[in-house]
Amino acid sequence: MNIKDDLKLISGIGDKTINKLNKIGLHNIEDFIFHYPFRYEIFKNRLKIKDLISGEKCIFLARVELVDSKRSYIKRANFTKAILKDDSGKIEAIWFNNSWVKDSLIQGELYYFIGDITESYGNIEIVNPLYRKYNSKKEIKEDLINPIYRTTKGLKQNILRNISKKVFENDLFINDYLPKDILEKHNYQDLYSSLKNLHYPKNLDLLEESKKRLKFDELFFIQLLNERKKSKVQNRKSYKIDFFENKTKLFINSLGFDLTEKQKKVAWQILKDLEKNNPANRLLEGDVGSGKTVVFLISVLNVFLSGYNSAIMVPTSILAIQHYKKICNLFLNKEYIGDVKIALLTGSDSMLNNEKISRKKLEEKIKNNEVNIIIGTHTLVQENIKIQNLAFVVIDEQHRFGVKQRHLLTHENINMDNEIYPHFLSVTATPIPRTLALAFYGDLDISILDEKPLNRKPIETSIVTELKEVYLFLLKELKQKRQIYIICPLIEETEEESIFDLEIKSAKSVFEHFKKLKPFEKFNIELLHGKLKPSEKNKIEEEFSNGKINILISTSVVEVGVDVPNANTILILGAEKFGLASMYQLRGRVGRSDTQSYCFLYTKSKSEKVLNRLNSIIKAKSSFELAEMDMKNRGAGDMYGLIQSGHIPELNIATIFDVNIMLEAKKEAEDLVKRDPNLKNLKDLKIKIETKENEIHPE
Ligand code: ADP
Ligand code: MG
Repeated sequence: MNIKDDLKLISGIGDKTINKLNKIGLHNIEDFIFHYPFRYEIFKNRLKIKDLISGEKCIFLARVELVDSKRSYIKRANFTKAILKDDSGKIEAIWFNNSWVKDSLIQGELYYFIGDITESYGNIEIVNPLYRKYNSKKEIKEDLINPIYRTTKGLKQNILRNISKKVFENDLFINDYLPKDILEKHNYQDLYSSLKNLHYPKNLDLLEESKKRLKFDELFFIQLLNERKKSKVQNRKSYKIDFFENKTKLFINSLGFDLTEKQKKVAWQILKDLEKNNPANRLLEGDVGSGKTVVFLISVLNVFLSGYNSAIMVPTSILAIQHYKKICNLFLNKEYIGDVKIALLTGSDSMLNNEKISRKKLEEKIKNNEVNIIIGTHTLVQENIKIQNLAFVVIDEQHRFGVKQRHLLTHENINMDNEIYPHFLSVTATPIPRTLALAFYGDLDISILDEKPLNRKPIETSIVTELKEVYLFLLKELKQKRQIYIICPLIEETEEESIFDLEIKSAKSVFEHFKKLKPFEKFNIELLHGKLKPSEKNKIEEEFSNGKINILISTSVVEVGVDVPNANTILILGAEKFGLASMYQLRGRVGRSDTQSYCFLYTKSKSEKVLNRLNSIIKAKSSFELAEMDMKNRGAGDMYGLIQSGHIPELNIATIFDVNIMLEAKKEAEDLVKRDPNLKNLKDLKIKIETKENEIHPE
């Protein structure tokens, strides 16, 4: 078999499965083997019954003493019970609605049982365990490690595991693109073994070893891309922007608040960048609500006053519209600014100075240098719109862009009409400590805004396990004309989630629920989620902004920089389902004015780990502090939440906490680019890296 072979060629995979695989981006074998499991279900090998641990997944060998099926009239369900016994003790097993279990288990025989051990009234039991008849030739000798993949509705983990089994049962040749000396130096497994062990781990040690190698790969590629990019960009030219001190002062005075010291400092750093005539590349990090927008608008203003143009790109049209309005308010009809043309361009909207304009006309105006400030989504680069005299590009909420989009948003992809490159500023609320950020984004300068505007009261945050009192509280705030966010982890119940976690609430069902609650009858409640059409989303957003909507029930789509200062309370349902960083961002939707604001984290979980995690949100004074706590709390290896919540999205298996591997990767990449910049002696690596570069800059 060849890694470029279509998954269709694997025996026993039907068209339906193929469609679902395609849906999650898996077409050929290569796609599949690089679709890494994101976590593992680990069944501890062969414990004695007396050693079984509540809360763990276990395998044990036991004899069936008694099996019986009953009908429970209370639960209206059939259930089957069995007593399982080994020489150390007994345990009760229960299966719900599985009447065939009674006929398939034979009393007196030995079976392996696999499942979660739970505790009920002081006794351990096992619910719905899987089982397999004991066969001395097929003894289970090792831990059972089941990979869990990202998947889609109807594509079960079992199917994915079967495919991976078939893939690796076949003779598969995978070229190892890493240089041999690097492999040897770090004692890494070859690529084939690493991949096989990752999908199909024999034991935990091998799994760890293969993870390490694959993390290295990922980080090495990032570093190699950086190094190559750096060597290319170094000698480029950009426009020189002057600083208009008096007009900048007038602008700041028009804001209605004083800048914090940190805002001043960072705004100055950016202005200094723009004074140079080679392209700046800076990352501005700052907590939600730390006031990053005005900081870059000061530069946008000076760019305009210098006679050049700026583009501001944001990940969603909601945010684009919001920025657009704000900027129009601040810049239009100001004598000291003069005649400025401000445009909005998203997939669905095109506007110029607060008036609708056809997309075609707007594009023409942009081409003819008749637009000074453009606010848009990634459509701006995707559709290759050439902006004349472009001196400054801001990527706001950079961490929320998808991997591909983010790679599109680089110097090379914008304004390639002439040889002059724009200055570049990426803005993010991702709290990566400076050292880590430097290592990850080796080619960037970094500014950190870790101070909030003074008039802000801390958000009063509490963990709640009952909703009644929260509802009363919400009513009280509503009566004072405040607005409320209710956040749910899902849009609608999916098959898998509702089986595994009955507590999970979808935005749709919460919406239905609230519609029926009498005390909330007179309030306007709306539902917002990512699957709505952009026009519907915009409408809801706008109505929430205008105060027409009292309660906004939403998924985490509102995480992205939405700014409605009158909203002062947020209730997060199923709080344990959110990554810490993501939750911190969500909470930042409130606390945007000088009134007291509140955040309720609702969870049914009693797990100490979960509660600790939620508590760190309460304790952390800034997202930077939170990142550190998160790192300590979770330890290495369990950082999926952070990545999932949008941190460093190009990382699939490595995390920002794999600092050591990352430093090694950086060093190797630097050495390699020095030694062999064109990768003449490393054909496989060259192909791989150029493919990545082409993905980033598709011609
Ligand atoms: P973020 O850093 O999350 O992008 P924004 O730039 O949206 O934050 O700012 C959040 C809110 O705080 C906005 O309404 C903004 O006008 C306001 N703001 C910004 N700086 C200050 C300040 N120094 N004092 C008071 N309010 C400020
Ligand atoms: Mg912002």
